[in-house]
Amino acid sequence: MTNTADTHSAAGESVVDAFGRPLRSLRLSVTDRCNLRCAYCMPEEEYVWLPREDVLTFEEMAELSGYFTELGVDKVRLTGGEPLLRRDLPRLIRLLLQNRHIKEIALTTNGILLADNAEALYQAGLNRVTVSLDTLRPERFRQLTRRDEFARVLEGIESAGRAGFTGLKLDTVAIRGFNDDELVGLIEFGRHFQAEVRFIEYMDVGGANKWAPEKVFSREMMLAVLGKYYGKIEPLPERGSAPAQRFLLPDGGTFGIIPSTTTPFCSTCDRSRVTADGMWYRCLYATTGTDLRKPLREGLSSHDMRALIRAGWQSRRDRGAEERKALEHAGLREGGLIGIDRLREDPHLEMHARGG
Ligand code: SAM
Repeated sequence: MTNTADTHSAAGESVVDAFGRPLRSLRLSVTDRCNLRCAYCMPEEEYVWLPREDVLTFEEMAELSGYFTELGVDKVRLTGGEPLLRRDLPRLIRLLLQNRHIKEIALTTNGILLADNAEALYQAGLNRVTVSLDTLRPERFRQLTRRDEFARVLEGIESAGRAGFTGLKLDTVAIRGFNDDELVGLIEFGRHFQAEVRFIEYMDVGGANKWAPEKVFSREMMLAVLGKYYGKIEPLPERGSAPAQRFLLPDGGTFGIIPSTTTPFCSTCDRSRVTADGMWYRCLYATTGTDLRKPLREGLSSHDMRALIRAGWQSRRDRGAEERKALEHAGLREGGLIGIDRLREDPHLEMHARGG
């Protein structure tokens, strides 16, 4: 990767990191709370939550997003925790849409509260919805998530189309020996709702301390299973920095694979993650971040807030997924990334705090 000079465009400044990667997409975690306890994400029953008084208001989130968009961000994804647990999310969407640099606002949700909120989210201007769904079997869902909410997730998926959303996506973490027999079923289920399924390789992030290399159902394994059922599968052209590789089925259907574990996309990663309490991480695997809440609340000028973010991005050298993969090659990767004691000391290190 080479370093290229930052440029200015009509949309604002366009800043690049130490490897020439632009700052384009912002994942804004609106809460660290979740109403599921998925084994690969929140294996513990209880967690150390972010103190409520530290959680940013919608106005603070919109202000912070404004600094990011002035430096190149044009896509915002609302995530969590479970973002729909945050009351009145449509208000945040309306606030964000006052920012002319934002071209797209997307939401990643587990779908439980979607039926109650889909219409208001659509009316507020939300552009895209991704629902996480790992299985079509209610019993498996309960086993994985430790909650009995499968029926509400289905209602949520149905409600998205009714509310007016198009281009729905379903994200499935493929786990070897757990749901690897459901790939075809999930694609067919998705078609029924005009939704494209994206299979995500199991990653050893945050508290995913149940991770083990043998649980990864790799892109190659997925393509083998799907090819056997559907016949010849063709790759579709890549779309910029999007992590999903898309494929075409012989009958015209499509699906995606996000092979983050076996084929990291660090070289094109343009993502920033801001936690609900304003910690900024430049990599999903990063163990240190920048506190943006403190300077924001202390009234640092907008010029200096921008300078702080600009400098943070320009010094970015993270390649977390590639480094994890290198460790595995050297036979040094075992279990989860971060031990549970360390996670209890710093809740920001959890996937549910920094957003998936
Ligand atoms: N609660 C929302 C949801 O369920 O979509 C948003 C937050 S969740 C952390 C975002 C995404 O991260 C989900 O699709 C989830 O499946 C994914 N995820 C969490 N832990 C993961 C892991 N260890 N490997 C791969 N994906 C993971």
